[in-house]
Formats: sequence, structure tokens, C-alpha cells
Amino acid sequence: MADKKDVKKDVKKDIKKDVKKDVKKDVKKDVVSVHSEGCISCGACVAICPSVFKFNDAGKSYAENQPKDESELDCVKQAESACPVNVITVKD
Ligand code: SF4
Repeated sequence: MADKKDVKKDVKKDIKKDVKKDVKKDVKKDVVSVHSEGCISCGACVAICPSVFKFNDAGKSYAENQPKDESELDCVKQAESACPVNVITVKD
């Protein structure tokens, strides 16, 4: 029978691994993000890249999807540059 301490250690290790994996996944996943609170609803990003940016119920932009190819990545970068209040962040 396994020692309780060993089991606890293994469980902690597994949890740490899972958390690290999830964090890495999230970092990779979120190439583009919008700090919606600062959005002034000008519509530039939604017009430039409608497949990624949408308006929420409050009329603020958010990234509904992440860019899935190079052309969408270019598109979100253009939106980042066009945003008059710089609330769009694109990670390279
Ligand atoms: S470009 Fe900026 S201010 Fe304009 S809708 Fe998009 S996030 Fe909001």
C-alpha cells in the first residue's frame, strides 16, 4: 500500500502539472484581448476584423474568437493599431 505522504505528493505534482498546462494553453490561446472597460465603441476593430471582434450587450468590443491564421493575425494587428484608446492587445 502506498504511503499517504507519497500519494499526497503525487497528487500535488499532478495538480501543478495540470495548472501549468492550463496556463500555457491560455497564454497560447489568448493572442488577442480587449480591455472592454476602456472601449469607446467606435467600431473600428469590428469593421476591420469582424471574424474576431464583436460587441457585447453593453456595446463594448471583445475578442469573440482568436485569430486562426496569418491573415486574421494581420487583421487583429491592424485593429490594434486602429483602436483610438489602445485597449486591444496582440501578443506575438
Ligand atoms: S477599436 Fe477600440 S474603441 Fe473602437 S470598438 Fe474596438 S476596442 Fe472599442
